[in-house]
Amino acid sequence: MAQADASLQLTGSGQGLTQASRVGLAIVAIGLLLLLIGAVGTTAFSALQFFTVGMTTLVGGLVVYYARPLASPATRLDRNQRIGLWLFGAGLAGSALALAGLGSWSPTLFFWLSTGLASIGGLVYFKARYGHGPAGIRNHGLFQSSTTARGAVGWLLGVLITGFYVVLYWFPGALEGLIRTMDPLSWVLRGMPADQWFMYGTLYTVAILVMGGRALYKYRHSKYQIIRTLSVMFFQLGFAFLIPSLLVLFNQPEFYFSYFWPLKYTYLWPNDIQWLMDQPGGLGVFMVFWGAVMTVIATPILTYFFGKRWYCSWVCGCGGLAETMGDPWRHLSDKSLTAWRIERWMIHSVLVFVVLTTAALWINSATEGALLGELSGAYAQSYGFLIGSVFSGVIGVGFYPVMGSRVWCRFGCPMAAILGIQQKFFSRFRITTNGGQCISCGNCSTYCEMGIDVRWYAQRGQNIIRASCVGCGVCSAVCPRGVLSLENGPRESRYNGPVLIERDSVAVLTEDDWAAAAGK
Ligand code: SF4
Ligand code: SF4
Repeated sequence: MAQADASLQLTGSGQGLTQASRVGLAIVAIGLLLLLIGAVGTTAFSALQFFTVGMTTLVGGLVVYYARPLASPATRLDRNQRIGLWLFGAGLAGSALALAGLGSWSPTLFFWLSTGLASIGGLVYFKARYGHGPAGIRNHGLFQSSTTARGAVGWLLGVLITGFYVVLYWFPGALEGLIRTMDPLSWVLRGMPADQWFMYGTLYTVAILVMGGRALYKYRHSKYQIIRTLSVMFFQLGFAFLIPSLLVLFNQPEFYFSYFWPLKYTYLWPNDIQWLMDQPGGLGVFMVFWGAVMTVIATPILTYFFGKRWYCSWVCGCGGLAETMGDPWRHLSDKSLTAWRIERWMIHSVLVFVVLTTAALWINSATEGALLGELSGAYAQSYGFLIGSVFSGVIGVGFYPVMGSRVWCRFGCPMAAILGIQQKFFSRFRITTNGGQCISCGNCSTYCEMGIDVRWYAQRGQNIIRASCVGCGVCSAVCPRGVLSLENGPRESRYNGPVLIERDSVAVLTEDDWAAAAGK
């Protein structure tokens, strides 16, 4: 009887609205109202501002509404989860008000009413959702939730994040209210008012910290996941946010010590190198030295010993966002052979593109423009626009809720391409499989964000040596049988063939075979 009740509740039929649902619907109503005002037109604010605010509020409300887990007894919202969602919803409403112009009126107040409340609400919710009970991964309701199973909310979120990047790159004026809420922090860290990139960097860092908190609760049974998550949080906060900001405060070049060519492609382009070398005080020369040494010497050595995971899953900000904010969508990666083929063509094409662009710029610089003229500049601009802006930002993050969390890392990142080639042919890293223990449940393949069919290898007892594997370790963490292990052993015997006997590898001898074997 209890089971029957539970299955009835899973369908969600016949339930009254929960508090979280009511909050969600109320926010949706406000969003619709704002869209209506934007459509009618107003003299005080532009239609674009109202559209941005309205869409933010509308999608935020839908997320709060649908984010309530399906009402199975195991996942029903408890009191603290409801408080967390209320605070998060209030933070979204505060963001909408800040965007509408109130952020300029009182930046500090609206910083806390928007980013502050949403972050606190998120942390309260995640602690209540993942922090209680025995440690272990609970992905309940993932394939039934509209947010995480490419439902309406997932698509809406995709549109919203993609729209945010489009507005950020090409219509930053519409974000003015939100940018102003970052002014107090920007004055403290950089000694100047915020601009769209500081606002973006702050939100990016906050997203990694808050969702990093979620990952710490969710994966707290795994020491590897805890240390790896703390590592991406540390590098984002320190190397990609605080240090570059403080450099600006001390009138030094804004430099990111955790990004290298070809991901940060301009760091080996002649103009940037010349500009850094010309900086007074010698710090610019050190930055050029750091960038060159990390690209040419440290990266190959570290990849030889640890595989590409040392960067893609421990240091890089793009990987950091994918591992934290993107985690709820990691199972959406396409596991088909076609996707694998497309991935290899695309990522290596981008690598060729950036190498040719860099070479063209250096040829142009060496010949003082005699050989290539304006061509190299146009080429560099195309790369910056197509790959640096559209692919890595708009598509790379905007498509999380639809294509999974590593769209950029898998299909576009030239750094991942170089590290992957080295990982495959010249590294000690591999995932070993104790195939005899595998029960073919498929958890590992399901949660591989890079679309690797891990189970196929596990069933055959074969080591996994794939260029695309970022060594996140989640396949190993979700395996109920402890089959998979990330290792950096000697290179000999790294490529082992399948060690298990498969159906097709056993031949049944016929009478003729026996006769032939006996020499008759
Ligand atoms: S998760 Fe573990 S048991 Fe399940 S298919 Fe993968 S290797 Fe096998
Ligand atoms: S194979 Fe495992 S470690 Fe590699 S990317 Fe996939 S889930 Fe992460």
